[in-house]
Amino acid sequence: MKESIALLIEAQLLDDRLAVVNRRLDSLDVELGEAESRLAVLGAEAEDAAGERKACLARAKDIENTLLLDEAKAAKWEGESNRMRDAGAAEIARQKVQTLRDKVAGGEEEALALMENAEKLVTTIETAKSAVAQAAEEMEAFRATGREDQKSLEADKAELLAQRELALSRAAMEARAAYERLIGSRSGKPLAVIRVSSCSGCGMTVPPNEMGRALGLAGLVSCRSCSRILIPEEFWKSTSEGGIESADESANSG
Ligand SMILES: [Zn+2]
Repeated sequence: MKESIALLIEAQLLDDRLAVVNRRLDSLDVELGEAESRLAVLGAEAEDAAGERKACLARAKDIENTLLLDEAKAAKWEGESNRMRDAGAAEIARQKVQTLRDKVAGGEEEALALMENAEKLVTTIETAKSAVAQAAEEMEAFRATGREDQKSLEADKAELLAQRELALSRAAMEARAAYERLIGSRSGKPLAVIRVSSCSGCGMTVPPNEMGRALGLAGLVSCRSCSRILIPEEFWKSTSEGGIESADESANSG
């Protein structure tokens, strides 16, 4: 069973590395999504400015059409007031003319302001469009890099999965079954190191009898509290070589 336990340790170390690779793959998706929404926001800003300019021009045109009619009316009243013999009626007609001309002057000012605003918006639109073009270019470069990163991560993942499968396939059936039973419910860490006679997974004290059995490495010994497979610290260290970070983390993840 000692060999199988060593293989389980190998499997858990590989699962830790797989978790890191999976997290990086997930964050790639998130970063790509964020870059896409930034691009969409810039595109919307450019469209808003274009829409506003269009509205300004349309409103200015409406005003100018009204002004033409008002001016024609004013000219008509002016002509009539000149022909009127009644001084009172002529005065009323002239007032009408004045009111219309005032309206025309006001409308002209308003139309001019709208045209000026439309002119300013041309610059805004150009700036926004070039920002969109630049962001789109960056986005394309980012996508290409992302695709490369993704490819290399997927390759790492496939390699790790193959190694994991190999380790588990070489372990005794009982050991593999115990590992796979716990993997989903123990945050990917079915094994726990015994540290100072406690389970590093849940902190529970390991009774002397089980401690002895675990140290013997003759069979699988499960923690009575969290069910993780208990591994003597020295054996973990000598098997994992690179240290015991993996088992340490399990103490925090419950
Ligand atoms: Zn435990």
